[in-house]
Amino acid sequence: MNVMKFGGTSVGTAQRMKDVAKLITPRNGEQNFVVLSAMSGTTNSLVEIADYLYKKNPEGANTIINKLERKYLQHADELHTTEEYRELTRKFLSEEFTYLRSFTKIMFTSFEEKVILAQGEIISSNMMTNLLLETGQKAILLNALDIVRTDKNAEPDFNYIREKLLAKLEANPGYDIYVTQGYICRNAYGEIDNLLRGGSDYTACLIGAALQTKEIQIWTDIDGIHNNDPRLVPHTEPVRQLYFEEAAELAYFGAKILHPTCIQPAKFAGVPVRLLNTMEPSAPGTIINNEMQHGSIKAVAAKDGITAIQIQSSRMLLAHGFLCKVFDIFEEYKTSIDMVCTSEVGVSVTIDNKSHLADIINELKKYGTVSVEPNMCIICIVGDLDSTNVGFETRAMMAMKNIPVRMISYGGSNYNISLLVTEKDKQRTLQALSDNLFNQAKD
Ligand code: ADP
Ligand code: ASP
Ligand code: MG
Repeated sequence: MNVMKFGGTSVGTAQRMKDVAKLITPRNGEQNFVVLSAMSGTTNSLVEIADYLYKKNPEGANTIINKLERKYLQHADELHTTEEYRELTRKFLSEEFTYLRSFTKIMFTSFEEKVILAQGEIISSNMMTNLLLETGQKAILLNALDIVRTDKNAEPDFNYIREKLLAKLEANPGYDIYVTQGYICRNAYGEIDNLLRGGSDYTACLIGAALQTKEIQIWTDIDGIHNNDPRLVPHTEPVRQLYFEEAAELAYFGAKILHPTCIQPAKFAGVPVRLLNTMEPSAPGTIINNEMQHGSIKAVAAKDGITAIQIQSSRMLLAHGFLCKVFDIFEEYKTSIDMVCTSEVGVSVTIDNKSHLADIINELKKYGTVSVEPNMCIICIVGDLDSTNVGFETRAMMAMKNIPVRMISYGGSNYNISLLVTEKDKQRTLQALSDNLFNQAKD
């Protein structure tokens, strides 16, 4: 069985859906398990609808719903060649949009919001399954809401997922193509929920890990992971291979191409992840596996929206138990720390979840003088950064010669250096790193 995930752009138009239908048609008697995102732009529209409803503006919500419905009816017309399936998809869409409209008439809470956000994947997966059936494929849609569940910490419940998935496959044997929705799930209380934005990658990796497939294919709109963010830096290049840890660091620290934590299940299961380009299926893409290739820095990424917190206390820092007390405060407010730097008189940490910032600062003040810097950006550099290799970190730091660096973290793993700069300096930092680490190497 192959696991193949297609992102929003890959299924973004009727024509793209038809292209995907060809790509997922099994060759050599294999079976494909297909995970689909919502058509591009849909989740953003659903977020907008929810936002209007939170603001008690049903008219605003209806305007977006009507626009979305017109777009989908057009997609349905273009998708099908037979009147029978065109009608089937139209009927399904009409029910979907009636359902969406029903939210404009009831009380709106975060529960309803999650239900609304789930509809993008529900729509795309139904449309794709209808297309496959129309073209004579032996395909079946499995509902992700019956398979994927998170636990009380909002983490995927892997054992539950594996058990449900295997039971579903056993109950529905003999299909060539199994289709399911990415991103959507139920939470520990049985409510509809999701794996956060970009979460379809996570669904695919969980399914691939549960089924122990040969590899997990993530099909997107670019030829694999590039050595820098192509939206911000010109002339980036694909990286053909990454070690699991390198890819996990890149994803967590901002490479938008992968959901931040999707590599974990694949890594634990030892299942390689291959990134491929739907627009150019024969391009080699990137393979993420258990091999560490030595001798190079591979890529950089940036994560913004970071807050730096410094606690200074000449009195207490070296007293044993001080760092523990500081970390306990973050633990108490369920706020993860991304970077840590210590000196004899102070400790600096970074967080990206600001929801409990005021309380955290309040508590930290018991232990020292606290200062906070918002709008910071973590720059993550990955590759062979083992401390026994001489010179690699120097090359990375040379790039920073004209850019103020607020924190540096090196040595936490053998694969990463993290730098903290202001968001304003993000673009020029990424550019300088590309110039020093990748472009120069070619000269
Ligand atoms: P999908 O909808 O298929 O999940 P995403 O939009 O989530 O696709 O991710 C693909 C996009 O990620 C690319 O189009 C590219 O603009 C962006 N991106 C950011 N950083 C990188 C990187 N290092 N390598 C490749 N693409 C990246
Ligand atoms: N549709 C969701 C999003 O836009 C999930 C995904 O595409 O992976 O975030
Ligand atoms: Mg994505």
